[in-house]
Amino acid sequence: MVSDYHQKFLANKGVSLPKLKNADGTFTKDALVLTFLAKGYPNTAVVSKQELTNFIRAYYLDTTDVQQARHLSMQKGWNILSGQRGDKNAKNQQIPAGSYKLISLETPYDAFALERRAGFSGDFEKLKEKYGFRCATCGSREGSDHLFRKGVIVELQKSHMNPKLPLQAGNIIPQCQVCNRGDRNRWIYDKTGRVIEIAETQDGVRVVKTFLKNASRKIKVEFLGFLKILLRK
Ligand SMILES: [Zn+2]
Repeated sequence: MVSDYHQKFLANKGVSLPKLKNADGTFTKDALVLTFLAKGYPNTAVVSKQELTNFIRAYYLDTTDVQQARHLSMQKGWNILSGQRGDKNAKNQQIPAGSYKLISLETPYDAFALERRAGFSGDFEKLKEKYGFRCATCGSREGSDHLFRKGVIVELQKSHMNPKLPLQAGNIIPQCQVCNRGDRNRWIYDKTGRVIEIAETQDGVRVVKTFLKNASRKIKVEFLGFLKILLRK
């Protein structure tokens, strides 16, 4: 049923149908989660993350945390509301945090549809591929444990290279949620995720002030002399 609906309504909107089975013949987690959420369609239930986890555990014994519902909407375009994200249903009601509900098999997830229209979503998948699905800055890999932050599963986000320019092709690098949040609006990055300049933003100014405030007297004096030369030009 899900693949019939997909072919009829969603394929042409860029929504991608997960593979049903892995190479070894077992069902993929994506397919299991999607099927579970679509049960009883169109009268689908609000499903808690615990229920989803219990279901997946029947196939994958070591499952502790099911991330698939979130990926299915944000990355693949399926119209699945998330309580965590604060999504609202058509009646403007929010579903409880930590739960999901499949809304429609005829329309894609709103934010996904918007991004597709703006023209970056498909490109972002390609861009991430170029980076080996790793954060440009810290190298953590998407869907895996973060290299430096315990308990964080890496989610790659579109990050500005220069925060003063729009988030569009040529100004995007993939960053994990830790690097993206921490550095937002402070720096200008090159394509390899290295900081190359201070952004002309409040955060950029603040970070320089903090550096200088904490610097030794020697650095301050040298810096002052250097600035005088620079500003004379
Ligand atoms: Zn990172």
